[in-house]
Amino acid sequence: MSEFTMYHALGQGTPDPNGPQKRNEPNQFRPPVAASPAGYQQAGSPAYGNTPNQYAGTPMQSPPPPGGPGYFPPQQSSTYGQDQGIDNLTSQMGAVGLGVEPSGPPRPKKKDRHAYHNIEGPTGSSQAFNGVPQAGTPSQFLNQNTPSLGSPAQWASPQITPAMSQFPAASPMFSPTNTVSPMQHAARTGTPMAGSAVSSAQGRVDPEHIPSIPRSRDAPAKYYLEHVYPTMEHHLPPPATVPFVAFDQGNSSPKFARLTLNNIPASADALAATALPLGLVLQPLAPLQEGEQPIPVLDFGEAGPPRCRRCRAYINPFMTFRSGGNKFVCNMCTFPNDVPAEYFAPTDPSGVRVDRLQRPELTLGTVEFMVPKEYWAKEPVGLRWLFLIDVTAEAINRGFLTGFCEGIMNALYGDSGKEKGQTEADNAPQRRLPPGAKVGIVTFDKEIHFYNLSPGLGQPQMLVMPDIEDPFVPLSEGLFVDPQESKAVITSLLTQLPNMFSEVKNPEPALLPTLNSAVAALSTTGGKIVCSLSALPTWGPGRLFLRDDGNMHNTDAEKKLLTTEHPGFKKTASKMVESGIGVDFFLAAPSGGYLDIATIGHIAATTGGEVFYYPNFHSPRDTLKLSKEIQHTVTRETGYQALMKVRCSNGLQVSAYHGNFYHHTFGADLEFGVVDADKSIGVMFSYDGKLDPKLDAHFQSALLYTTASGQRRVRCSNIVASVNEGAAEAMKFVDQDAVVNIIAKEAAARMSEKNLKEIRGALSEKTVDILAGYRKNFTGNNPPGQLVLPENLKEFSMYILGLLKSRAFKGGKEPTDRRVHDMRMIKAMGPLELSLYLYPRIISIHNLDEKDGFANENGHLRMPEGVRASFSKIEEGGAYLVDNGQTCLLWLHAQVSPNLLEDLFGEGHASLKQLDAFQSALPVLETHLNCQVRNILQYLESSRGSKALTLQLARQGLDGAEYEFARLLYEDRNNEAQSYVDWLVHVHRHIQLELSGQRKKDDSDSLTSTASTFVGLRTPYWN
Ligand SMILES: [Zn+2]
Repeated sequence: MSEFTMYHALGQGTPDPNGPQKRNEPNQFRPPVAASPAGYQQAGSPAYGNTPNQYAGTPMQSPPPPGGPGYFPPQQSSTYGQDQGIDNLTSQMGAVGLGVEPSGPPRPKKKDRHAYHNIEGPTGSSQAFNGVPQAGTPSQFLNQNTPSLGSPAQWASPQITPAMSQFPAASPMFSPTNTVSPMQHAARTGTPMAGSAVSSAQGRVDPEHIPSIPRSRDAPAKYYLEHVYPTMEHHLPPPATVPFVAFDQGNSSPKFARLTLNNIPASADALAATALPLGLVLQPLAPLQEGEQPIPVLDFGEAGPPRCRRCRAYINPFMTFRSGGNKFVCNMCTFPNDVPAEYFAPTDPSGVRVDRLQRPELTLGTVEFMVPKEYWAKEPVGLRWLFLIDVTAEAINRGFLTGFCEGIMNALYGDSGKEKGQTEADNAPQRRLPPGAKVGIVTFDKEIHFYNLSPGLGQPQMLVMPDIEDPFVPLSEGLFVDPQESKAVITSLLTQLPNMFSEVKNPEPALLPTLNSAVAALSTTGGKIVCSLSALPTWGPGRLFLRDDGNMHNTDAEKKLLTTEHPGFKKTASKMVESGIGVDFFLAAPSGGYLDIATIGHIAATTGGEVFYYPNFHSPRDTLKLSKEIQHTVTRETGYQALMKVRCSNGLQVSAYHGNFYHHTFGADLEFGVVDADKSIGVMFSYDGKLDPKLDAHFQSALLYTTASGQRRVRCSNIVASVNEGAAEAMKFVDQDAVVNIIAKEAAARMSEKNLKEIRGALSEKTVDILAGYRKNFTGNNPPGQLVLPENLKEFSMYILGLLKSRAFKGGKEPTDRRVHDMRMIKAMGPLELSLYLYPRIISIHNLDEKDGFANENGHLRMPEGVRASFSKIEEGGAYLVDNGQTCLLWLHAQVSPNLLEDLFGEGHASLKQLDAFQSALPVLETHLNCQVRNILQYLESSRGSKALTLQLARQGLDGAEYEFARLLYEDRNNEAQSYVDWLVHVHRHIQLELSGQRKKDDSDSLTSTASTFVGLRTPYWN
């Protein structure tokens, strides 16, 4: 074990191209730097030449920091930084003559006044515009359990207790060292109109000074360690990858709902000038983080929650009371409703209901209502989990069956008991499923086997159902049992399964009949199916065949492979939704074979489920991931038999929904067999009139569902945005993550009708349209050669490039199974998961600061800064974690220090070859480095989507995973697409053409037609 200092003594000289010292350097002209090296395999790239091996203890020979980027400002450092006030910010802006007025005190934002008015105020919101601060301090509407947010000083005060802290490390009472000034607020919430200029007049782009995604994440992440996000006072949510504690002030937390524009232009024409989509990204059951108030569940008895008689909107904080409390005016349709007698409360002289502070539905943006019988489709019961387990030859031979069975046991009972040798009694109180939930187990090969798991039986009883032509459920008792009561029977079965079928080894699974018998078993209650499969289901009714011969890429025939016309699978999918059933699949292709995920996954996509896909499943490496993901599936918040409706203010209408659900006809509610914490839906809006700039625009999503514990509820999320005549204000409140999410979902939704080249073309055109629209309509007197990016869309181009390089859309060969899997995943991904998927987090672990990976003085984990996804940033002898939310690679340079390896992996692991290629987690060691990296991994694991974090080794020159590492360096030229620098040059060129009226929309033959149908391009949405 080496001394810490051996590899940490070098910190101070780190050549950080984004380092703070650069901010104040004079702007000197500097010749353009050549584009960054293309592939990382390219030997002799600057990365090899210049970078010393820090771990080996050589002194730093960092190249002198490059000079200023021509006459453009360095990338603006975050406005979150505690060390940087607004003055610095404006001086930077001033330096390039962008015409920014030095900020005075922040002007009150209209929504502030407005929203306060709506919340606090007595009457219709139009009165908010007299500019007089509203009576009533914010603290009025705070209840005692919530952080107090009245003034900046107040809301920066210690409200997050260590126990509430979102990070693993805990320490004494949190007390922020710096409070944020109103000025800093203004810098964040009211972005100056000016954008960032990143390019020179020659059209050259300096790779060191293009907007950095890691930086755009790191600074806010630090800020939100110490600050809550107040949902009304702030108008622009933190970046989606940033953990934060939201304080619900009546506007829903961005975790549940993000608008692309938090300030909406009044007319379609004004919106068209931005080329941006008007959309809402919803994740109705998103997980909360420690420190956040649980969503209150409100019971209005037999009457149900009060709703608008005309538009059926649910009661919410933006409805106003009149006539002494006898009427409530709907914020969506302005209809004045009678207040039901049982809901009446008088209003005070200012028009506020006297009981308002006791009523969460009038103070919180997200609440849940219990609903009476008229909302039921069937008697709600605790969720039925039905595990369908593939027991064919491939599943047995490859260890997938063993892994799946172990995963279920861990999911139901935890694995701690087994490991620590606890007795069963110690484990008993550990209930993983809510009371009332039940489980059942079915196995299948070319027959279907049901099991009686009644607790009274010493052993499970198997009933074989040989008639797969007309499957039925052969037992009525004992199929679904309480997992605690039947623990002995269930574990006995799951332990024996791999052996039970080892003599049989049928090669061909009969999938569709098994799914149909599962539907029969769940038809009266609804429920969730978790199904494993390890081979193409080639047996019995609904058998599938090898459709993809690998020769169809770049043809129209490829499109067909990405969708399904199979009548049997389609019918089963719609039957499931009708019965309130959804499926998660765990699909393994152990020998890399074709599974027809387009057809099988159609059922998961339609029913609101998910596909967990293990291409080239290898049990020593992948069993841990499999197990963790089963556990996640079973324990994440899950509801079933769900309907969803989105309402919006007069003047707007829903124009499209994107996601994984079933939609009968446009205008009908969205239907989900199941819905869970990770699933997100994109909603797009168009204008059916003009919005009144004197009023706010309101949105409400209502998800009616049955909880896993068997309660029928509606979860309501309310979102408000201010309205302006023109779009200039809108550009200041653009939510980049929401824009990217909506565009990505829409692109994925087009996959069955457009070919990939057309979609890539449309994405490229869309990027140019948005940035050209900004340049044309919203920037001042920038030199014509400048590429000026909107402040809040600085990283937008890079995210779209990430999308173009994703497995779903990239050029070149890609197995259709992977394409269609990723495409459906994008449709259902929330903003956090998608952001990571489009640009990975890369953490360098060979030069960690001594304190990185441990709690800081406030008890928060100190995370090192992220590294840009380019091989030019990779150091010789380096070691890097690369996490895109789906897989986490540990890439090790061939010359990595033996000391580092031993510290990380233990003695006897001093060279790359001594490492186990298939290890999927770090050993638990006492070394400083090992602890740091395990803490960092734990942090990464705590902020991601549905996929488990396990390590995959990518040793330079040794492991196949190196290709994945190269693929994920999205700033380089790879995946048959340009480098980030070249991409910006391309975009810039087309913006210039647009500005000079010379832009042709037909770079390639098919672009014209597609571009005109792409999101809000010429028409507000596709079709
Ligand atoms: Zn209404």
